[in-house]
Order: sequence, then structure tokens, then C-alpha cells
Amino acid sequence: MPTTTRSAVLWNHNEDWKIEEVVLDDPGPGEVLVEMRVAGMCHSDEHVVQGDMLIPHFPFIGGHEGSGVVTQVGPGVNSLEVGDHVSMSFIPACGRCKYCSTGRQSLCDEGAKLFDNQMMTRGLGDVSHTIGETEAARFAQLGTFSEHLLVSESSLVKVEKDLPFDAVALVSCGVATGWGSAVHRAKVKPGDNVAVIGVGGVGINAVQGAAMAGAKRVIAIDPVEFKREKAMEMGATHTYSSIEEAALAVPELTWGEMCDAVILVPGVVTGDMVEPALGLTAKGGTLVVTAIGNMMEGSADLNLFFLSMMNKSIKGTVFGSGNPRADIPALLSMYREGTLKLDELVTNRYKLDDVNQGYQDLRDGKNVRGVIDFS
Ligand SMILES: [Zn+2]
Ligand SMILES: [Zn+2]
Repeated sequence: MPTTTRSAVLWNHNEDWKIEEVVLDDPGPGEVLVEMRVAGMCHSDEHVVQGDMLIPHFPFIGGHEGSGVVTQVGPGVNSLEVGDHVSMSFIPACGRCKYCSTGRQSLCDEGAKLFDNQMMTRGLGDVSHTIGETEAARFAQLGTFSEHLLVSESSLVKVEKDLPFDAVALVSCGVATGWGSAVHRAKVKPGDNVAVIGVGGVGINAVQGAAMAGAKRVIAIDPVEFKREKAMEMGATHTYSSIEEAALAVPELTWGEMCDAVILVPGVVTGDMVEPALGLTAKGGTLVVTAIGNMMEGSADLNLFFLSMMNKSIKGTVFGSGNPRADIPALLSMYREGTLKLDELVTNRYKLDDVNQGYQDLRDGKNVRGVIDFS
């Protein structure tokens, strides 16, 4: 019996989300049906709305951060059963490709199928999600702004049942990406100076990751005052409202050393931010670019002389360069022990029907993380 569900859908870039009835096929081989509990409202969905992230297929079901309960499994699914609680990973982890088998699940080859219309478990023309007569695509093969999800087993990570659904949702994208940017990608060490540029839902967790890794100074840079205050609660030692303000203060603050790691996480990264961010980076230091820029932007300001003469590195990262199947349970276990803060990240809760209000609040700088609560 196909399942009918309600989902927040985009019909094109630069439009509002619309709530639509979506019909989901029965789970096929390797597929799982999940009843959603909480979906995180990540900035990446806003990138699709604004057209910074161009996608090939509309209509498009939004959302790629979430938690829920398994209600049905298809043939051949062996890691999950009905009643299991799951976190959704926007990067699938097949476990078999070259990248998965060498501890780099965030680069899983299945990621190439993230924006295909058909499910990664199905061939071309094997339709699984429909709105009326039209086939619907899903964000990162998930589409968590939906009461029910039909997804590949590769996109789900089983979690312990006593954990709150908010926490399980948050670690699936924003927390893992920010925390991993500091811990895995920048490899922050005890005593380091670290700057995080932009402390929204991802950057705030880079602050948290840098502090947990033992950074001596964690400098949070954001124009929004309440986000700077939040950053101080999450482990920042100093805050500034702009890169320019930080550039004046950080030389004296760090006794001339500057920052061993700089993590660039504004809402949208642009090419003109790279050189000022490198200006905060120490000799031999690392600039990690975590935020998403416009897909069509192909140039950045970069002083190549100082890049080489000061032995600096620039690194990109996806999912904080972590492994969803290891990092999601690890982050939740740190939350359980009280070392990782997650409850403090949720600033506002919304019903599915209020998704546009949630994104307006994000644009207005009111949210560190808004969530859709399906309960
Ligand atoms: Zn995200
Ligand atoms: Zn893989």
C-alpha cells in the first residue's frame, strides 16, 4: 500500500515552500520507510531557495537533517527493523566503496546520486515519489520536511532509543559539519588559537569542537549580537562583529601569532572573504572553507605570494570530513555524557506548515537552529 504524506516542496528557485501531498511507493530492496519526528532547518535548504545551490529537478522536497522512527523495511534491509530510531545522514555511507572502506564516508561514491530524481536504490524511470502525476526529487535523497520518508538504508544511522529526537536530528548535519570542521579538518590541538567566521547552526559547533579539542582561544566572529552571546556559552573566549574588527584585535590578542585554524562558515561564502580570512591565519596555519558559495562563482581573492611564503593551507570540507556511521553515534554519546551541548542550539520550533516563517526567521538572524517538530 503506497503511503500518502505531507511535505514542504519547492517548485522553483526563489519561491516559497508549499505544503503538498506526496505519494510514496512501498519500500523496495534496500529501502526504508520512516515516520519523521524532528527536522532541522539548515541553511543549505535556503541556498536552494536563493539559487546559490542549483538543483536539476523540481518539484523538490526540502530538508536533509532529521530524526524519526522506522515503520517499514524493504527486502534485503538488514541493519534496521521496525521501531528503530534513526538519524538521517545527508551523505549516504554505502560501506563498500573506496572512500567508505578507507574511513572517508563523507566522500562516499553514492554521494554522486544525491540530486538524482530517482532514488539511489532504483534505476532511471523507477518512480518512487509523486505529487499528482509528477515525480518529486528530494534534498540529498532525503527530503526531511515531510511527515514520512522513503529512503535508502545507506542514508540512515541507527541510534539509541532513549535519546531525544531533537539531539538525534541536530547531529545529522549542522553539528557534525561544524564540529568536524574544527576537529577532523582543521585538526585543532590543545593550545591553538582558532577563529570561526559565522556562528550560525554550523559555525557554533565549530566553536564547540575547537573548545573541546583544547584550543586556548576560540574567536567567534558574527555580525549578530545574540549569536556572539550564544558562542560565548558554547566555548568561545572572544567575539568580534566583523573580520575587519577581528583583524585589528587578533594580532595583539594572540601575541602576534594569529590563528592556527580559521573556519569560514558565513551564511554564504563569497570569493572576497578568502584573503581576509587568510589574513587572520597564522604562518603554517589552515583555513577551512565549510560554508557553501554560489555554485557558479569561480574566483576568489587570494594573495599567492603570502600563501606559499607563509606555508598556509586552504581546505574544503563536507560533513566536517567525518564518517556519519562513526560520528553520529560518537556525538550523541558525548551529548549523553554532557560534554557536547545540543539542547542549547534549538532557538525556535515550528510546525511543518510554518516552514516559510522558520526560514524568514533564519534570514532575520533570529535562529541558531530552528527545527520542525512533527509530534
Ligand atoms: Zn545541512
Ligand atoms: Zn561508500
